[in-house]
Amino acid sequence: MTTTKSIELAWLAYCRAGFERDLAQELQERLGGEILDAVDLSGFVRLSCEPKAASFRMSVNSSTFARQLLLTQDAPVGLTSNDRVNPIYEALVAFLAARDIVQVVDCRVEYPDTNEGKALSRSAKAIEPRLRELLAEAGYLAGHAKYRAMVFLTPDRQARVGIADLHLSASEPLGIPRFRMPADAPSRSTLKLAEAIHVFLGSGHDEALQPDMRAVDLGAAPGGWTWQLMQRGVRVTAVDNADLKGDLVDNAMVKHLREDGFRFVPKVPVDWLVCDMVEQPARIAKLVAKWLANGWARYAIFNLKLPMKKRNEEVERCRQIIAEALEEAGKPLVLQIRQLYHDREEVTGFACVPSRKERFAHNVASRDTRRSVAAKTTPPKSKSPTPAATPAVPTSRAGLKLTSTLPRAAASPWSVKPLPKRKKSK
Ligand code: SAM
Repeated sequence: MTTTKSIELAWLAYCRAGFERDLAQELQERLGGEILDAVDLSGFVRLSCEPKAASFRMSVNSSTFARQLLLTQDAPVGLTSNDRVNPIYEALVAFLAARDIVQVVDCRVEYPDTNEGKALSRSAKAIEPRLRELLAEAGYLAGHAKYRAMVFLTPDRQARVGIADLHLSASEPLGIPRFRMPADAPSRSTLKLAEAIHVFLGSGHDEALQPDMRAVDLGAAPGGWTWQLMQRGVRVTAVDNADLKGDLVDNAMVKHLREDGFRFVPKVPVDWLVCDMVEQPARIAKLVAKWLANGWARYAIFNLKLPMKKRNEEVERCRQIIAEALEEAGKPLVLQIRQLYHDREEVTGFACVPSRKERFAHNVASRDTRRSVAAKTTPPKSKSPTPAATPAVPTSRAGLKLTSTLPRAAASPWSVKPLPKRKKSK
């Protein structure tokens, strides 16, 4: 039997160009290994992987900076000859054999999300169907398989072959969910919230985000996030001294208050807090923590504008602020912070005080409990009259599946609620 000894392995993760060091630091903390590649603006990072440690232990959902995470062969396949397909195919089949993988669902050929990387998209489109054909002929393709075969092209005419674990990797090509910009939304920021809802709540977000729920949007103007909530039938109190635009003005679903978002207190608790104010991340984290700890909202999506340096540390600090405040309040917490595709020098957080049902769904769905900030918050302090009945969710890094027990990547990527249709202009 072939063993993994013959092949040196490496983790390969994609990120937004410019965040390679942050991603490398994050992965090294979680997976160990040596950094093999973390070149500025390359859009990817590689880390050595000991054969013993070569099982997927973290999901891409639980990472802050990774858009995709693959296990690959360390050695590249050089693409110097005219025949690019056969060398890649041979390396891929050898890699699969070395890992005793006899079936894969599919094969994808990808490249970094950079200008140089995008120049490889034509090659990728040409190679991918031919590889798929060869794999199908050799009997590798099976709908129920656990892995997807992956090929990653780099601008230096090299390819790396490997696998993505379907339950723990991103389902979208390049790890990028694509959204159409709705014509009548007041700002492009609307895509950020659309992506956050898709990423954090998945396709089963009906329970967490339902028509007739109430939300407060702090730093709402010109109104892209408010618009996104309103399209889902949510009534929004939009707090901002600046003007709202478009459909949101004089809209029965929206109440605009020209107040300071840091001082605003809702008269009655709401379901959702969303916050996109440009402020120091720790200040936003404290605000979100206050809202959840006081029970002013149960779910929150918030944007953290990152500093130029020590971005990883800043994100961890914000996690701690929220986790500690909720622990202090004796409340369970689910917390995820991720750099979304639509985030630039920023990350987006999702925090929730889960219901009993949500905790159950989450625990069943979670496959990524290795590292957990909220573990420090468990169990909640005995302020609660029945602490045993309200255990804290044992991870703040794993994805929350509010209504579905299916791991996110197992669900069809196309089951996402489509964007609302454009309104016809009168
Ligand atoms: N999410 C908005 C959208 O989708 O259109 C964009 C928000 S913009 C990035 C930040 C907003 O936060 C600005 O409109 C600004 O006026 C508002 N803001 C900043 N500090 C604030 C504060 N202390 N209270 C209320 N709003 C504030």
